[in-house]
Amino acid sequence: MKKILIIEDEPSIRELVSYNLQTNGYEALEAEDGTQGLAKARSEGPDLIILDIMLPGIDGYEICRTLRGEGNNTPIIMLTAKSEEVDKVLGLEFGADDYIAKPFGIRELLARIKAVLRRYENGGDKETGSAEDVITIGDLTINFDRHEVIEDGEAVELTYREFELLGFLMRNEGHVFTRDELLDKVWGIEYAGETRTVDVHVRYLRRKLHDDDEKYIETIRGKGYKFK
Ligand code: CA
Repeated sequence: MKKILIIEDEPSIRELVSYNLQTNGYEALEAEDGTQGLAKARSEGPDLIILDIMLPGIDGYEICRTLRGEGNNTPIIMLTAKSEEVDKVLGLEFGADDYIAKPFGIRELLARIKAVLRRYENGGDKETGSAEDVITIGDLTINFDRHEVIEDGEAVELTYREFELLGFLMRNEGHVFTRDELLDKVWGIEYAGETRTVDVHVRYLRRKLHDDDEKYIETIRGKGYKFK
């Protein structure tokens, strides 16, 4: 049974989500503030975290940033109170996998949870056959079977979306894609994201790959991005 941790200070939302998780075959853990949430995220090893942004103690951004900083790649879906772009982008920048704006329908949340968990499973659990799906370009190697990225001999920890974006660009080396095309190909057409989401992920990737001089991912002014 998949274990889901919900970190939310609003009792009515926390209990509603928790109840619906349990009736849908998940084990639900609850935390009512940031400190408790962070502690449970570390000690309980949940399969996914639903994380409110505005929390007493440590806020959602900080929890996300802290966990990612510790190398914890548990999928995170953020709950944002405002549907403003800055919230979404900030959440994604801190390493969240998805966000959902309040008020949300429980069916939508369950669908997002399912989608995020499925993506992680597809990425993580594949048995490695004889020929692994690997691309190496320069100092960078991506292994699609193992869901691993090695840069200059060092493993790079990426979130699901960062990995997918990098993988897509590497598979299509030299091809320029617009932000809309990347949203479409990497996030999927059902994803109602803004094109800035792509920029945020590219920025995050560059930071993790030490790619300040754009030796891997190149910005094509007025067009989009390509892998060199
Ligand atoms: Ca709150």
